[in-house]
Amino acid sequence: MEIKYYFDYNATTPTDPRVVDEMMPYFFETFHNPSSFYRKAGEARHAVEQAREKAAKLINAEPREIFFTAGGTESDNLAIQGTASKLKEKGNHIITSTIEHPAVLEACKFLEKKGFEITYLPVDKNGFVNPGDLKKNIKDTTILVTIMHANNEIGTIQPLKQLIEIAHEKGVFFHTDAVQAVGKIPVDVKDLDLDMLSFSSHKIYGPKGMGVFYKKHKVKIDPLIFGGGHEKGLRSGTENVTGIVGLGKAAELALAEMEEEEKRIRPIRDRLQKAIIETIPESFVNGDTEDKLYNTLNVSIKYIEGESILAMLDGEGMALSSGSACSSKSLDPSHVLLALGLKHEDAHGSLRISLGKYNTEEDADRLLEVLPPIVERLRSISPFWDKK
Ligand code: PLP
Repeated sequence: MEIKYYFDYNATTPTDPRVVDEMMPYFFETFHNPSSFYRKAGEARHAVEQAREKAAKLINAEPREIFFTAGGTESDNLAIQGTASKLKEKGNHIITSTIEHPAVLEACKFLEKKGFEITYLPVDKNGFVNPGDLKKNIKDTTILVTIMHANNEIGTIQPLKQLIEIAHEKGVFFHTDAVQAVGKIPVDVKDLDLDMLSFSSHKIYGPKGMGVFYKKHKVKIDPLIFGGGHEKGLRSGTENVTGIVGLGKAAELALAEMEEEEKRIRPIRDRLQKAIIETIPESFVNGDTEDKLYNTLNVSIKYIEGESILAMLDGEGMALSSGSACSSKSLDPSHVLLALGLKHEDAHGSLRISLGKYNTEEDADRLLEVLPPIVERLRSISPFWDKK
């Protein structure tokens, strides 16, 4: 069935047609290898460097601090495994949080098997890391703190500046997975004094399979991928010129349009949040109701399964997520919601609504029209609702 109402922008975004237009010439007229010597190759190289400038501008970095990768997952792995490899003689301790994306958590678990010690900081009921906890857990062997900027499931925005200051007081590098923050809210690596950051193209209306790894110039880490020495030796492999050009354009558009987007989207999200809680009994918001990404809303609807709601909404041409979209193939309840202290059954009844560029007030009207009767129908056949 065709999707008429898309509410899953944190999972991925449609590529902006202006991004596609910008990419097209690099499939045909200027398909050349940027490392080759003829003039056309020089044009491809120039396009790559222009995109690097645009990506740098979005996060207020220097172009030389931007490295192109194949996505947020690769950038996260590069930060974590690259630091571990480079600094293993200095220490073997890494600090992260329990609500990270699997790209961070699984990289940490892999290192754990190789003898690294990982501390997973807990979060409070709204999803915030306590800066005092970070302070307490840094020790002489700590080589990296990696804590996400904004959470993909509940939208919580961490007090990054404070957390980074704490790490730096002890001389420890700080990496943030900013995949959900960059392009939605202003992110300034200089102001934050960040050492490393990851972001992804397909969350900001760019092509899939493209990402950025930012590294402060003086920070040195090891590569994950070895080869011809591209990206100053940090990420070998012939550059994905079309993807890089698309990412650059998406970054430029995000910077120009971010503020307006927030003004338009926040009221739609706030209206949905209020109306869902008011019209559906025994439902509640996960994470903070105010202090979070303006496009994200996560609610638990008690006594039914999120997947059943999703299936029925799909029948209405609506796309949403339950738990984490990236790993929703798994039937385990969301690790993020469990970390907030939710009971398994309430975590199972969660819905994530994430809004974006093409959502309108009418989309929200339609969702508010179809969701309550679906919940009522599912509850009428739920043994848990009967027994409550
Ligand atoms: N980190 C976060 C917070 C995400 O939401 C995602 C994707 O959902 C990723 C990392 C992975 O990014 P990519 O899909 O570009 O590999």
